[in-house]
Amino acid sequence: MRGSPGIQHGRCPVPWKRKHGFALRLAGCFLSVALAAGFVVSFRQAGAESNMLWIVNGLLLAYLLLAPRWRWPAYLATGMTAELAGSTLAAGHWKINLLLTLLNTAEVAISAHLLRRRSLELPQFTESGYLLRFAGFAILAGPAAMGLLFSVLAVSLLHGNPVSSFLSWVISDGLGTAVTTPACVAIFRARLRTSARVANAWRYPALLLVITLVGFSQTRVPVLFLVYPLLVLVLLRMGIAWASLGALFVTVTGSYFTLHGHGPLLIAKTLTSAAPIVLLQIYIASGMFMLYSISIALDRQKATERRLQQIVSLHHLVTENSRDVIILADFEERRSYVSSAAQRLAGWSPEELLQYKSLELVHPEDRPRAEAAMRTLRSGMEDVMVECRVCKRNGDYMWVEASLRLVRDPVTGVPSGVLNMVRDISERKMAENELRNAYHAIEALAVTDPLTHLANRRRLDQFLTSEWRRGMREHQPLSLLLVDVDHFKPYNDTYGHLRGDGCLKQIAESAMDVVTRPGDLVARFGGEEFAVVLPNTPNEGAMKVAEEICVSLRQRRLEHRDSPLGYVTISVGCATMVPGLGQHAPLLIQKADDALYAAKRNGRNQVHNADAGHAVAAISQAS
Ligand code: GH3
Ligand code: MG
Ligand code: MG
Repeated sequence: MRGSPGIQHGRCPVPWKRKHGFALRLAGCFLSVALAAGFVVSFRQAGAESNMLWIVNGLLLAYLLLAPRWRWPAYLATGMTAELAGSTLAAGHWKINLLLTLLNTAEVAISAHLLRRRSLELPQFTESGYLLRFAGFAILAGPAAMGLLFSVLAVSLLHGNPVSSFLSWVISDGLGTAVTTPACVAIFRARLRTSARVANAWRYPALLLVITLVGFSQTRVPVLFLVYPLLVLVLLRMGIAWASLGALFVTVTGSYFTLHGHGPLLIAKTLTSAAPIVLLQIYIASGMFMLYSISIALDRQKATERRLQQIVSLHHLVTENSRDVIILADFEERRSYVSSAAQRLAGWSPEELLQYKSLELVHPEDRPRAEAAMRTLRSGMEDVMVECRVCKRNGDYMWVEASLRLVRDPVTGVPSGVLNMVRDISERKMAENELRNAYHAIEALAVTDPLTHLANRRRLDQFLTSEWRRGMREHQPLSLLLVDVDHFKPYNDTYGHLRGDGCLKQIAESAMDVVTRPGDLVARFGGEEFAVVLPNTPNEGAMKVAEEICVSLRQRRLEHRDSPLGYVTISVGCATMVPGLGQHAPLLIQKADDALYAAKRNGRNQVHNADAGHAVAAISQAS
């Protein structure tokens, strides 16, 4: 029986064994089939007319199922010869035995052909699909086909009852195969090798052995009902192979004692002489049905567990390798899961983060935004994004983008929490800041005069327009000074344009030294002309500022050989208006410009007030 038939090799065989492996397996097949046939036929003799479980077909089927298809004829021929020899040695009617052997061998061949889909498919009794096919083809279809033929022969040759002949054939062959094949396959494939788990469970088969022997050998202590739970325990702890072996032992023991007139099943003998064997068959069939059902359920459960394990592994792979932190929280902001990316991102271990509520680590300035996002989710929105700063473990804040998604209960569909995917966006934020600064710098450049760093003409126009409007709204005076350098053309001619530029810078600084009020603006009007806008400033104040600028420049004593005084001077035109309806800012410029030219005409190096009517009149006369 230990010969490993067919294509499955548990251990690496020695060369001699490999060379003669097939012959050895055939010899093993011959011996085991002959012994089984002799054993069962001798039982049948003991039980007179009773039929019993025919285990020979199941044994031969196990050999076939483990062998490649092209070796089946050899196994079938060996099995047939062995069965004929064994049964004839046990009971001498060789002609009847030959007929039965032919039927049995054909049955095994049919079952094997129906069961084997691919040429090298191995039996898998732990798979529900295979088990169902085994039940359908080997336990029912094969025995039924031959049972039909047997009943025809029984009627024509022995004048027997066709129905009882058919039933006795199907039951004894079907049950015998159900018990024998899985057990023999397990034995041949060495699936009974004990693992540590199986070694620890040895007491269950041992107990099964004792209970079976005690249960079938006497009637005083009724313990047969204990056999089933023990079979289930063996199945759960050690697998279907050991359980099938246990069932085979129960079958052989039960048959032996029942046929020899012992055990509790004999109580049925009062009905008919065959009733104890029928009872035994029902007992074995129920046991096998129970084992197969549990085995299928276990197989399905294991498949579900495997699938679940795969999903868990995949989930683990994704969450643990994602650069984003994945956080699961309920609506009370209690976190139930934090992925390990939190450590890389912010230095927090997932366990530490589980202690904090969702918004606790958000920067106080950003918290209202984050709370608003949570409210949006609670109101039924599926997802929402929020950018905020969160506290790192070292106390610094970092910018993150939190992608919040509503989590619904998979059964009821009711929102149950929030899935939060947190991404580090500090680099993006830094780039954004740089871009913003660059924009501001460009914007500033667009309104700055590059030589003097004063506001340029563009800025002056914007400022003057807005201050004009404000003055109009608030009925406040708006003053404007226009400054022009005296004899600047000769300055350039004498000292060159570069020194001329330097001179313009000094004039700008002189003006800036004097004009310090935050609301005022000093601008380069163009060329060597400057403008000073003084909002909310009456004419007297503006005149004062203008004179101070002249003084400030004079104090610098910038040499100018071609000027009558020998140093650089300026002329200033001062104008003040309370902006009125229908008037515009250029009017003020015009007035200041007129005043400036009046100052020029009056001899330069002076301030001329546009509001001083007589002076303007004098200048008009002069011009
Ligand atoms: P006035 O006293 O009448 O003002 O005589 P002026 O020579 O200053 O005459 P005007 O105001 O017309 O002078 C304009 C001169 O200013 C022309 C140019 O030589 C000089 N200028 C204008 N813009 C610049 C500048 O950006 N740099 C330099 N170096 N010189 C400039
Ligand atoms: Mg000029
Ligand atoms: Mg000038």
